[in-house]
Amino acid sequence: MTDDDFKKSTANLKQAVPLMIKNHVAATPANYALWYTYVDNSMPQLNEEMDAILANFDLFPPATGEHLYKTHIATRAETSVSELRNNIELLANEICCSMSDTMTDTSAFEAAIDKSLNDLERVEHEELSIEEVMMMIRQFVSESHDIRHSTRFLNNQLQSASQEISRLKAQLATVQRDALFDSLSGLYNRRAFNDDLAALMHGHQPMSIILLDIDHFKRFNDEFGHLFGDNIIRSLGKRLQASCREGITAYRFGGEEFALILPNKSLRSARQFADTLRRSIEKLKVRDRRNNNQVGNITASFGVSQRDDLDSAQSLLDRADQMLYDAKHLGRNRVMPI
Ligand code: GH3
Ligand code: MG
Ligand code: MG
Repeated sequence: MTDDDFKKSTANLKQAVPLMIKNHVAATPANYALWYTYVDNSMPQLNEEMDAILANFDLFPPATGEHLYKTHIATRAETSVSELRNNIELLANEICCSMSDTMTDTSAFEAAIDKSLNDLERVEHEELSIEEVMMMIRQFVSESHDIRHSTRFLNNQLQSASQEISRLKAQLATVQRDALFDSLSGLYNRRAFNDDLAALMHGHQPMSIILLDIDHFKRFNDEFGHLFGDNIIRSLGKRLQASCREGITAYRFGGEEFALILPNKSLRSARQFADTLRRSIEKLKVRDRRNNNQVGNITASFGVSQRDDLDSAQSLLDRADQMLYDAKHLGRNRVMPI
């Protein structure tokens, strides 16, 4: 984050929070993101809608806020995560500011004490009037009030800021988890796959990946309906999740495609693992809710590749994809390379 970004988000946050309080808006990450975007004025359409709502209500109805968040902002999953992260940085920064304010107060106070002590010495050595001594003492007392006040203020600030930080951190974890999960299959999503693969590209152990694509999935959708298709994805997600062990992780790659990362597995053992999955999917049965029939004959094709020293994430993925393509063309329901 650059200095300018930081100044801008500080300014936005300072405007957004009072508006949220004024409109009785709960301090959730979604609402932060929504009101932050509102004061940021980066989505005129959103501002128009919010202004219309504000004009009609005394407070901002939570469901409307949630709806606006979902339609305008949630699609940009990164936004809320980075906004939250910014907010945490902002709070940390505010604490530093109040700390240094109080530090300055403290050193000013120390100087004042030094001066007062000198003055008091003068009382002993010089002939000062009682008025002069009284005035000195009054000043002394008032300065110690100041410092006590500012210390108490700092303590309160620190306490509420650290509570706020813990709360934001917990929310950040939830938002980040949501941003990495696919709700239909219950597996990690493509973004998590990209992140994990990038992180694992630099290891020294062997590592392999598997891509799998459901065969003729479109036919299931056409014959049994889209909801049935969704149920296949859900069941397959469970099946993949259940077979993950020894650090193997399954991801929904997109549509009816899935990916697995197998750390510490050679091409040979990854292929064996893929073939076990293949046979397990062959046995999968999904219930057609319209007539309670169990539908089987679900199969998938697999492409496997092992990372070599010169691989990038992309080249490793391309090889697995090429293998998957070959598996489809050789008749589906198989693992490639043989
Ligand atoms: P192939 O064996 O060559 O892979 O054939 P296919 O029919 O599986 O492949 P194709 O790419 O032609 O069709 C994939 C279909 O998957 C098209 C799309 O409508 C469907 N699909 C993608 N995502 C979802 C989803 O989340 N739910 C449902 N029900 N269908 C989906
Ligand atoms: Mg496909
Ligand atoms: Mg397919």
